[in-house]
Amino acid sequence: MEDLIERVVHDLLNSKYAIALTGAGISTESGIPDFRGPDGIWTKDPEAERRSYEIYDLFLKSPKKYWLERLDPESFLSKRIFSVFGEIEKALPNPGHYALSELEKFGILKCIITQNIDGLHQKAGSKKVIEYHGSLDKFRCIECNKRFRKNEINLDAIKEKGDLPPRCECGGIIKDDGVFFGEPIPSDVSRRSIEETWRCDLMLICGTSAVVYPFAELPRIARQRRVEREKMTDSGLYVVEKVPATVIVEINAEPTPLTYENISDYLIQGKTGEILPKILEKVKDRIHR
Ligand code: NAD
Repeated sequence: MEDLIERVVHDLLNSKYAIALTGAGISTESGIPDFRGPDGIWTKDPEAERRSYEIYDLFLKSPKKYWLERLDPESFLSKRIFSVFGEIEKALPNPGHYALSELEKFGILKCIITQNIDGLHQKAGSKKVIEYHGSLDKFRCIECNKRFRKNEINLDAIKEKGDLPPRCECGGIIKDDGVFFGEPIPSDVSRRSIEETWRCDLMLICGTSAVVYPFAELPRIARQRRVEREKMTDSGLYVVEKVPATVIVEINAEPTPLTYENISDYLIQGKTGEILPKILEKVKDRIHR
């Protein structure tokens, strides 16, 4: 483990554009359960996984019905899906979130692309965060992608007037910003994430099972990036070879398909809340030396 920590510190300090990809695992040490880890919500309750796929269907069939259920505290949606919101809102960032934020302040980490909807990276001070699956505390127009803070829309008043679903000034229907299972990733987020992926020369993947698509495609896209390097052969000829342009590192409690398929260069197995602060300390040490 210590060797791998030294290795990632070396790789980070040699990188020109490092980015992090994060998943639910980075927030478990803040008390928010993941989906597929040993104590995950779906590991314990597989029915919840099946039902979660029904929400987007409900929204597509009738946005009005979706909103009526969403605003009814006794409905399935409120009780099973949105009941976790209270827990997430109370959660605080853990040392893993803070370490990534510090790496950004040192100019090493340029961007975080997170699957999490909990806002903990921003609470820890990270500035450039792409919320791939949206955010818990926002709404989004499904036509123009405009985001609204939750306090910008008075849903109770709209419901009372019988005007559900809420609408944007462009006329588009407004939904929760969180991306439902089966829902396409908003086009602005998808485009920015691919741009960051093409640009990075180091990708630090933290706390994700890497099985949710299209997010899990990002490391695969990064793996395809190659640069040309000149090399001298044994017979003294110069040849041009294509080598991977991106170092891909996983920090996760367990191996993932990225590990098994050799998409990542190496896995540092353990808790992000313990490993990331160790990395940060060594980076600081080298910078101040
Ligand atoms: P996942 O539940 O599929 O996988 C989490 C991974 O993290 C697992 O491999 C697990 O072993 C690992 N892990 C758990 N705790 C860890 C720790 N402390 N350190 C290192 N690794 C740890 O999560 P996913 O890949 O992000 O996909 C789940 C989907 O659910 C995402 O789309 C996400 O939007 C959503 N989700 C978000 C939150 C949140 O916002 N905090 C919570 C649950 C689910």
